[in-house]
Amino acid sequence: MRADSLPLWACPRDGHFPLTLSAPEAPAADIRAGALACPRCGSAYPIRDGIPDFLLLEEDESGRIKRMELESREQELDWPAEFQQVYESQVEAEAVLARLQLSPHDLMLDAGCGFGRITRRALDTGAEVVAADFSFARLRTLRAHTGPGDRVELAVADANHLPLRPATFTKILSTQVLEHLPTPDLRRAFVRRLLELLKPGGALVLTAYNFDEARRRKGEPAEGYHNSGVFYHCYNAAELRADLQGFEVKEITGIRHYLRGMYKMRRSGRAGYAVDHLLEKVPALSLRFGSLLLAHAVKPQ
Ligand SMILES: [Zn+2]
Repeated sequence: MRADSLPLWACPRDGHFPLTLSAPEAPAADIRAGALACPRCGSAYPIRDGIPDFLLLEEDESGRIKRMELESREQELDWPAEFQQVYESQVEAEAVLARLQLSPHDLMLDAGCGFGRITRRALDTGAEVVAADFSFARLRTLRAHTGPGDRVELAVADANHLPLRPATFTKILSTQVLEHLPTPDLRRAFVRRLLELLKPGGALVLTAYNFDEARRRKGEPAEGYHNSGVFYHCYNAAELRADLQGFEVKEITGIRHYLRGMYKMRRSGRAGYAVDHLLEKVPALSLRFGSLLLAHAVKPQ
């Protein structure tokens, strides 16, 4: 954690800022150990291995479901190498980055960055990035893929308790996080909080599972648990739009399409990507066959 990142953080319990920093090696530019404390409620958040830990989970059933997800996610700590996963991550990254239009002037929040495959690509644009995830272990994977030239701050935090100061970010990215929050109230609260964290005129690009044809045809329920124990809720476009209340919605489309022959085309290289991205522009198809929904929305001035 860089010492000059202090103005970014706010108490995840009561929203108070600024927090106070105590660090044994202060005033170092790079803080490796110590704590951030909230002068209002007295909570202290430890800095471990340079990463502040703000993790706070609900004490009810929702917190239990989130902890199950956290344990499951931490079974996988390396970037995937298997073709299908690499392809899917690449298509999603290209789709979100095309909408975000990042530049070195941007300060972007990656809310629920996981182990940061897409975060890495956002950093390549020169943008400054705050990457938050509930898994410390996964953040360390992301950090292993960053270097001294990257402007990145990492934080351990739950999506529903983001430890950040309002009206801070010019861009927010959140990929496949919303659908894993276990109740409609938590999902709506997450989106409302992202609205609060954006500067006026700032843009949100978000992806979430689509209740697509493939899922419907297999008779899968719109909501349930993966075999891994991870909760999910598949969205449809109207429902996602409703959750984006307060935003000016620019686009809702489907991405990562599952159509007959698509898999073979993907194997053939760039043509597969081109066709996949072309379909994004045809909502009548993409909203049915895209495995994810993508929303691009702006905070009104
Ligand atoms: Zn506090």
